[in-house]
Amino acid sequence: MLDDARAALRDATRPVAFSGAGLSAESGIPTFREAQTGLWARYDPMALASPEGFTADPELVVAWYNDRRRRVASAQPNPAHRALAGRRDVAHITQNVDDLAERAGATDVVHLHGSLGWDRCSAGCGRRRLIDMADPPSLYACNRCGHWMRPDVVWFGEQLPFTAWSRADELAAEADVFIVIGTSARVHPAAGLITAAGAGGAELIVVNIERTPAHGIQLTGPAGEIVPELLKPTRPRSDD
Ligand code: NAD
Ligand code: ZN
Repeated sequence: MLDDARAALRDATRPVAFSGAGLSAESGIPTFREAQTGLWARYDPMALASPEGFTADPELVVAWYNDRRRRVASAQPNPAHRALAGRRDVAHITQNVDDLAERAGATDVVHLHGSLGWDRCSAGCGRRRLIDMADPPSLYACNRCGHWMRPDVVWFGEQLPFTAWSRADELAAEADVFIVIGTSARVHPAAGLITAAGAGGAELIVVNIERTPAHGIQLTGPAGEIVPELLKPTRPRSDD
């Protein structure tokens, strides 16, 4: 299976990786379901990650995100992040809101669901602010319009950022190999990119710790082991 996947990748001219929470799991960042543990287990995800939840209790929502930010700040990129960063020819679209791909050296990751590293004005006045994830601020007001600032991430029921979505949509449509890494592919419209890539003729390679119902070449195991093997540069073919 790994050989088939490597062969597909060797012949690809427009390879794309599409990652989810499983990419960062071995760095100790909990996947979405696991994030609801401990103190946070008693909260409904809708209360923590929706505009309605933020309106109802902005301090609670910011406290939860700050908890996640501190976890990300103390985590390190894993071999899968580093392997992706080392392959500039493989475009990377992620649903992750952490910055581990960038800290592994990637410079052009398409973040479909925003970034924990930024806040933005909840009233949409356009103000954004870079956050120190190791020491994030508690709830504060926008200095331009006075409304609450909020994490610059996409919540349930919200639209994806236009520029990121347009780029991802185009990359998926044009991909000839589409590598799906560590995502349950249940969050739409992001998961629709897999279908779009397949419909556009891309060969699918699926890296997941569990077998998934997705089509394509299945590489079952931890991303931190499989992705570096998959993306290891191959020797040029003698007939090139
Ligand atoms: P998910 O939690 O729904 O699914 C994670 C997937 O990764 C599962 O299919 C699981 O089997 C697989 N997985 C777990 N550990 C793995 C490993 N070591 N190697 C390979 N695969 C592994 O995550 P999702 O599909 O990304 O969707 C959840 C949503 O939550 C996304 O929108 C994302 O923005 C958000 N989220 C982001 C982060 C992050 O930024 N690191 C963390 C949690 C949730
Ligand atoms: Zn504002």
